[in-house]
Amino acid sequence: MGNATKTSTIIIGSTIALFLGVGTLWQPPQETPVACNDTTINAANNKTGNTINVPDEYKEPIKKAAQTAGLPESTVAAQIQAESQFDRMAGSPAGAQGPAQFLPSTFAKYSNGDIHNIEDSMEAYGKYMADLKKIVKPFAGDDPNKLIRLTLAAYNAGPGNVSQYKDVPPFPETKNYVEKITSGAQMKFTGGCKQVSGAKAWNGDLGKGEWTNPLPGGQFTSGFGRRNVPGLPAWAQMHAGVDLATGSGYGPQGTVIAPTDLKITGIYGKDGCVLGTMTAEPHFRMAFCHMDDYQVKAGDEIKKGTEMGRESNHAGSVGALVISHLHFEIHKPGDDYTDSNFNPYDGTAIDPEPILKEKGALGGR
Ligand SMILES: [Zn+2]
Repeated sequence: MGNATKTSTIIIGSTIALFLGVGTLWQPPQETPVACNDTTINAANNKTGNTINVPDEYKEPIKKAAQTAGLPESTVAAQIQAESQFDRMAGSPAGAQGPAQFLPSTFAKYSNGDIHNIEDSMEAYGKYMADLKKIVKPFAGDDPNKLIRLTLAAYNAGPGNVSQYKDVPPFPETKNYVEKITSGAQMKFTGGCKQVSGAKAWNGDLGKGEWTNPLPGGQFTSGFGRRNVPGLPAWAQMHAGVDLATGSGYGPQGTVIAPTDLKITGIYGKDGCVLGTMTAEPHFRMAFCHMDDYQVKAGDEIKKGTEMGRESNHAGSVGALVISHLHFEIHKPGDDYTDSNFNPYDGTAIDPEPILKEKGALGGR
């Protein structure tokens, strides 16, 4: 995979995990939400210092690196998160080290400093990205967003591969890497980037007791809200839930369990979703999707921790997903979802991430 800095970061196959083609059950939203897409993210980042959610010690280095590289700050932030989770001591089996996961040999070409030092690493990263950008620029035409994607692809797969394909190379790892950074993740780091309408955070009571991670061992791989996945219509660019993945495999992987006590209310087979309603307050409705088989059925009342199926990549609405993961939705209380009335876009989806955190069901992110 070239001489680019390499990382063993978990591959994220989440960005096409959208529900499409549910047919006549629902209509595209009438109003166009303020989208956190490439354009708004780039516009927001034209004002430097508009980056949010990065650790304090990274703020200034990310700003400088973004200027050096000529990339949006949120893109840089999302990439560093993907590479090291902002852990300056991070390492990989392939030998990549530090915040930007440089191979020492590559780092040495750009810095005499310390690979684990945030300032040194980010300064080298900025220069390195500027070089990559220069190499891939001829293949981006006058499309600034394509230029960002190609630069990220060059980082992941090496500039030689981008030059060869004159595009993001068709390697699943690289495609996923680019999608992960340019779609879901960088939204998290852009100040003023609004959430989609009907996707408000829950500010009511969350009820008693802790939950468990619905996918034990699963890492958070994609957040809730707007994203920009090439090839999907504008209305379909909303991610109505969050994604969790145990690894980068295909087909059945980790075990999906009930995060809290549930009444199972339906199975939406097309996208491999188990549907359920919390038996306790606040009676959230939940969907656990992309499974191939189920160990529960409508009418079951199950306790927290009960196995429901296995994480997989079953998503009939969009064809096969690249990487197995659990797509998890939480909807405001309402009529129980059944096999026939489940609708991710009915305007009741809420962001599961803060709820999972509040309930102790999500590890550090
Ligand atoms: Zn998803």
